[in-house]
Amino acid sequence: MIIDGNLQSEKLRKKIKDEITKICKSTKDVPKLSVILIGDYLPSQIYVKNKEKKAKEVGIKSEIIKYPETISEKEILDKISNLNQDKDVTGILVQLPLPKQISQKKIIRAIDPKKDVDGFNPLNVGNLASGFEAIVPCTPLGCIKLIKSVEENLKGLHAVIIGRSNLNGKPMAQLLLKENCTVTILHSKSKDLKGECKRADILVAAAGVANLVKSDWVKKDCIVIDVGINKLNNQLVGDVHFSEVKNKVKAITPVPGGVGPMTIACLLSNTLECFKAR
Ligand code: NAD
Repeated sequence: MIIDGNLQSEKLRKKIKDEITKICKSTKDVPKLSVILIGDYLPSQIYVKNKEKKAKEVGIKSEIIKYPETISEKEILDKISNLNQDKDVTGILVQLPLPKQISQKKIIRAIDPKKDVDGFNPLNVGNLASGFEAIVPCTPLGCIKLIKSVEENLKGLHAVIIGRSNLNGKPMAQLLLKENCTVTILHSKSKDLKGECKRADILVAAAGVANLVKSDWVKKDCIVIDVGINKLNNQLVGDVHFSEVKNKVKAITPVPGGVGPMTIACLLSNTLECFKAR
């Protein structure tokens, strides 16, 4: 089974749109997402444009605040402080990566946790780890939804995650633990990657290494979620060797058309949740 991320994303965005329409009818208020974009890095510009388009489609107001590559950290922190206080702003997102002179840590800490639609602020990270209510990072949230579109009950399944980043691997592990999975996290210093992956009922690959996972790394009833986005010979490929693995496993996400579209839908979902909480 190929998991259709575009279809799942469309379903979720339709649900979000219906809910926003209903809320806005009674409150006359609309959610607003403010995105800070620094510099001219092309992939960031494309992501942000796409986020803006999808936000508008579901009824979320969206503004892109652009700064040149040379902007100071202080100016960005001042802007975030203004957005934190602005009652019209529901969600704040600072598109990564940032230029060298700006500390990612400081930016992430500066965003009001209640407007932190990326779920990167340490308060949200801590709440997620403690099993409290939290805003969850969009990509892992999308991955869980894709896994559950195949298998509703994940209790006792062995989940293996490749990658331990704050963005993907770590929150993914927290979400799978919450689903009562047994979780193994692999990273660049792990030994016997293949052997560990072979034990997985659920395999989430988020290493950023093209075609890392081969067909003899997976067992036949595995659900494979490919987070990786890599350029290989001018083509986008995932961390999983898709053509080799797809016929062997129970379900797999393609790249593109798998995790990517769900990440955006979950950003919109997080914005709606922030709006409702307010
Ligand atoms: P990162 O570089 O911050 O982290 C990569 C992790 O993978 C690290 O923990 C590292 O230890 C591990 N790793 C690297 N090489 C490895 C190897 N050979 N074996 C085992 N582990 C290895 O990256 P990230 O931000 O977590 O992103 C990972 C990938 O996911 C990238 O390709 C990125 O483009 C993609 N991504 C996709 C989406 C989406 O919406 N689909 C969103 C975010 C990131």
